[in-house]
Amino acid sequence: DWLSHPGTQALCAVLETAGHKALFVGGCVRNALLGVPVADVDIATDALPSEVSRLAEAASLRVVPTGIDHGTVTVISGGCAHEVTTFRRDVETDGRRAVVAFASEVAEDAARRDFTMNALYADARGRVIDPLGGLPDLVARRLRFVGDAHLRIREDYLRILRFFRFHAHYGDPAQGIDPEGLAACAELAAGIDGLSRERIGAEMRKLLAAPDPAPSLAAMARAGVLVYALPGADPRALAPLIHLEAGLPVRWQRRLAVIGGQEVAEVLRLSRADAGTVAALREAAGRLLTPAALGWKLGEATGADAVLVRAALMEGPVPAGWQAEVARGAAARFPISAADLIPAFTGPALGQELKRLETLWLQSDLRLKRDALLGENGRDRPDTPR
Ligand code: ATP
Ligand code: MG
Repeated sequence: DWLSHPGTQALCAVLETAGHKALFVGGCVRNALLGVPVADVDIATDALPSEVSRLAEAASLRVVPTGIDHGTVTVISGGCAHEVTTFRRDVETDGRRAVVAFASEVAEDAARRDFTMNALYADARGRVIDPLGGLPDLVARRLRFVGDAHLRIREDYLRILRFFRFHAHYGDPAQGIDPEGLAACAELAAGIDGLSRERIGAEMRKLLAAPDPAPSLAAMARAGVLVYALPGADPRALAPLIHLEAGLPVRWQRRLAVIGGQEVAEVLRLSRADAGTVAALREAAGRLLTPAALGWKLGEATGADAVLVRAALMEGPVPAGWQAEVARGAAARFPISAADLIPAFTGPALGQELKRLETLWLQSDLRLKRDALLGENGRDRPDTPR
């Protein structure tokens, strides 16, 4: 586990030996307490960024100045990256500023964080520090804003999306969403318009990667937040999809294909590859193709997604044995090449004939063999047995 990782312990020792605090904070503490895998290790310290860099370099650790302006340096220790951020507080006049004395600082650093469960700290020995009562909220799987929800959202409207994102991952679907936070998100939803598409996209992709994002997205729709985050999206087909994909690896592209409006790729600033996958899934869902044909056209992973997306949108079942069929299709090769048709066909006619045979082959569910297909192309032999 990451806490006892020698590189992590070594970095903490470097800071502590110099008389500084080194406290784990945010997602790593929250996830460790929940027994969920930790994505990245964030460390909060009272050392200034320049001091963190100096100490780390003196200990022969590699330092990347990721966000000096925000008080963050990345320190590579034992092959692991650690984001080390100086305790901060939000100062109304000039934004964020590093401060020094510890006892009040951890409380101040906590006060500028978004949710109580994200404002949990732990020292290098794993002792938890909980300045804001985040632990009982975490145990109850309750997402609560730090301080007044309205004020905190007005400081940063991204927190609306983060509220639903963390609820999707760590909330209690049975208990529902915190009514106070929800009301504030609903009231201030229009503020999402002022956010960059990149920030919206990053949060939405993470939300869609939750084990079951359906309740959270439904809540976003009811609160009038979804129209700002993802215009044109309809989350109704998501619940059937989640049901169908039980036990399969999570792929947010598949969830997005089911809910997405026409312009989701643009709205979320998807990479070319992700946009292509989502578009292919939406296109395939509108066509009558067998699982094998989808596997052949889209490959095994995206072909499987297409079967699920189609079934979810049609509110139908997935065909029996579909996964094996997608795999069969992904491994199949269309048995005809242009060389088989020349000289009988040339020019545009060659392309047309190849297309016609491909359609026949797809209609046979990829079962017609080369000879049977070539028998098909003689106009004078229309009754060639398959
Ligand atoms: P993940 O596992 O998704 O990385 P995380 O909690 O680490 O979850 P990050 O987005 O990496 O989330 O942010 C790290 C921490 O920084 C959060 O736990 C929170 O304390 C704080 N934080 C991040 N973004 C904001 C924000 N917009 N407003 C307030 N605090 C924030
Ligand atoms: Mg994180």
